[in-house]
Amino acid sequence: MSDTPILQIENLSTYYGAVQALRSVDLTVRPGEICAVLGANGAGKTTLLRTVSGLQPAAPGSRVRVDGVDITRHPAESMVRHGLAHVPEGGGVIVELTVEENLRLGGLWRADRRDRAKALDEVYELFPPLVERRNRPAGTLSGGERQMVAIGRALMARPRVLLLDEPSLGLAPLITRQIMQLLHDLRDRTGLTVVLVEQNAASALSITDHGFVLSQGAVVARGSSAELLADDRMRHAYLGF
Ligand code: ATP
Repeated sequence: MSDTPILQIENLSTYYGAVQALRSVDLTVRPGEICAVLGANGAGKTTLLRTVSGLQPAAPGSRVRVDGVDITRHPAESMVRHGLAHVPEGGGVIVELTVEENLRLGGLWRADRRDRAKALDEVYELFPPLVERRNRPAGTLSGGERQMVAIGRALMARPRVLLLDEPSLGLAPLITRQIMQLLHDLRDRTGLTVVLVEQNAASALSITDHGFVLSQGAVVARGSSAELLADDRMRHAYLGF
């Protein structure tokens, strides 16, 4: 793993009107790492991802860099060109469209058709259950399969950093474990960097390299996943297990 950060967040603050939702967050992720962003309901996890990907304005003085390039306050549409892909909470899959139509949406910004076709083949290779479901409306899939479509659609853009918001939401424990394993394998196979927002801290820390705990918009703990798992006070106070 390289030591140069691929994602560097410095002093990131965000407001909803007068309410401060993120408080001077610093976070560094290196290429090929899986990083957990943990915290209770309302801690600011979703807001962090939305601000990094330009969907929510960052306050003055905030800084977000991808591979050294300052992307702070760049429009959300430009993020894909900087190598960022964002899978929102719930996946954002369009239920009326087929699996393949959903996947193709993720590659639309690429001009080269052969490149798009290759990316699609790669996604099917990574998620074999989607092959036989390719012509089915996404609304007919299970929750776990929909998450695969959501992640696959993001991968169609060939990102360097995947921002993933609560992929375990609403999934049974067994399916959650499968999705976590899948992310782990994906990183091992492709070297993708993943920022994984999870309320389910135990599941997330089973596959991440390190993590950050948010509380009321501020980072209250950071460390390797092993360190966070071993910290009883932290687990009881913020992680709920
Ligand atoms: P959850 O796990 O429930 O998604 P979270 O950690 O992702 O929680 P956020 O959704 O980022 O937390 O919310 C952080 C804070 O910002 C909360 O206090 C929330 O009420 C507030 N907030 C979120 N979205 C808005 C909004 N659109 N307008 C006003 N306040 C908001």
